Amino acid sequence: MTRDKPAPYRTAQPDGSNPTAGNPISPDGVPQPGQDYLIPARQGRAMRLKRGQSLTIINPQGHQVCDFFAITEDSPAEFLSMEHCRTALGRITVKTGDRLVTNRRRALIEITEDSSPGVHDILIAACDHTRYQQLGCRDYHDNCADNFRMSLAAIGVTPLHVPCPFNIWMNVPVVQGGAFDWAAPVSKPDDYVVLQALEDCIAVMSACPQDMTSVNGVGTAPAELVFRIGR
Ligand SMILES: [Zn+2]
Repeated sequence: MTRDKPAPYRTAQPDGSNPTAGNPISPDGVPQPGQDYLIPARQGRAMRLKRGQSLTIINPQGHQVCDFFAITEDSPAEFLSMEHCRTALGRITVKTGDRLVTNRRRALIEITEDSSPGVHDILIAACDHTRYQQLGCRDYHDNCADNFRMSLAAIGVTPLHVPCPFNIWMNVPVVQGGAFDWAAPVSKPDDYVVLQALEDCIAVMSACPQDMTSVNGVGTAPAELVFRIGR
C-alpha cells in the first residue's frame, strides 16, 4: 500500500484561507487606543503591543475560546511558550497575576484581570487543518493555526513557528487517570481578560472555529470576540 507523502512543511504557509488574510486592524498592526476591534467568528487578528500597554479581550457571547499567541517584536523566533510557562508556574493552569514567559524564559505577558471564573487552557495545541481532517472533515475547515499565519502575514510578519497558544476560556479539565475532557467554557457573556505586555510584542488572537468538539460550547456556533488597547 502506498501512502501520499505530505508536501514539505512550511511554517508560514496556511493550508487554506479565510477573510483574516485581507482584514488587518491596520497595515502595520498598530492599534488605535480606545477603539474596539471585532474578531469575526472563525477569524484571527494580529496587533502590536508596546511594553506597558494592556490588551482587553472580551467574550461577548461567553462561550467563545480565544487562542492567544504572542511573539516578541525583536524576533519572531522568540514567542510566548506554554511549555516554558508550565515550568515557570509549576502548574498546568493559570490565574490572575501570573507572568507568562517565552521560549527563552523571559516574562512577556502578565494576566492582570479576569472577570471569568478563571478556567483557561495551557496544554492543547492550536487546531489546524490536519486536526479537522482527523476529526472527519473532508473539506478545508477554518483553524487557529492558519488564523495565526494569516493574521501575521496581513501585517507583514513571517512566523518561524506556530506555538502552542494560551487558550483563553478553553475548558479542558484533567480527569482521573490523567486524561482530559473537551468541555464547554464556564465563562459568561461579556467576560473579559486583561493582559499586559512586559515587552514590545505582536499579539495574535484567533476566535477558535472548533465546532466538532464542545470547546466552544454545546449547541452553540463559534462566535466573535472583541479586543481593545487599555482596560
Ligand atoms: Zn482553534
